Amino acid sequence: MSYNFLNQVAVVTGGLSGIGLATTIKLLQNGAKVIVGDITAENKVGAILDSIKKASGSKDVKFIRTDVTNYKANQELVSYAVDQYKDLNLVFANAGIVTPNEGAEIPYEEWEKVINTNLTGVFSLNKEAINYWLKNNKKGNIVNTGSILSFVGNPGLAHYCASKGGVKLLTQTLAIEYAKKGIRINSVNPAYIDTPLLRVLPKDVYDALAAKHPIGRLGTSEEVANVVAFLLSDQATYVNGTSVLVDGAYTAQ
Ligand code: NDP
Repeated sequence: MSYNFLNQVAVVTGGLSGIGLATTIKLLQNGAKVIVGDITAENKVGAILDSIKKASGSKDVKFIRTDVTNYKANQELVSYAVDQYKDLNLVFANAGIVTPNEGAEIPYEEWEKVINTNLTGVFSLNKEAINYWLKNNKKGNIVNTGSILSFVGNPGLAHYCASKGGVKLLTQTLAIEYAKKGIRINSVNPAYIDTPLLRVLPKDVYDALAAKHPIGRLGTSEEVANVVAFLLSDQATYVNGTSVLVDGAYTAQ
């Protein structure tokens, strides 16, 4: 399905890899101008941006180095979009990390890093974008990346589950608060998706994970990007404050 994002300005965090990368390409293919905020090493950025332009057939993509754990970086991300493309319409707050560790063994620094990246980073970008729209009397549209682990716990991922559960209720609460201002906020909640985040797993663990999905495989980044694009589009004007599972029936079991 194609969408009309012509002249829409989008910000995507974590947009140089996996789900964020696929979504950046999808938005560009459908006419958006995209600012990517990502922490990826400087020496890799040029080649990834070239591949994005090639895959999307669009040159309307710019990069600003962003660490989402720093609220000032989220402010700069919004300012940069407005400076470069004169507006901001769409936000995909997607950057996230996972560092498996059993609850009582999680060092406080690791807890803070996961929460600050996956939850506080999402809050900061939502806050900055919403304030831009409110100040300028504009409408806007946000998708935050949750997970199937926004709904249930998972051994070895207490900090990750806490962060993603937080994203779900943050999304719901902000959606209620700003619905009357014409701002929609939803979350996308993938099961296990074949991205660099998971490709580090040993083959037997990866295969066992795939087998746990009724569909018999992991999802692709493009399958998540399709749903994000729908949520960000005008096809979804009555979809607000909801958490959309993209999970090959994983949580239906
Ligand atoms: P990837 O690791 O492929 O992509 C994440 C991107 O975010 C990378 O480019 C990474 O940079 C960047 N990033 C990491 N930390 C920061 C930061 N502090 N500031 C800015 N950018 C940062 O992951 P996925 O595409 O798999 O994951 C995207 C989102 O989807 C995450 O929120 C994840 O939790 C969620 N998710 C993923 C699932 C999966 O199975 N893959 C399942 C459910 C949810 P670098 O590579 O340099 O670290």
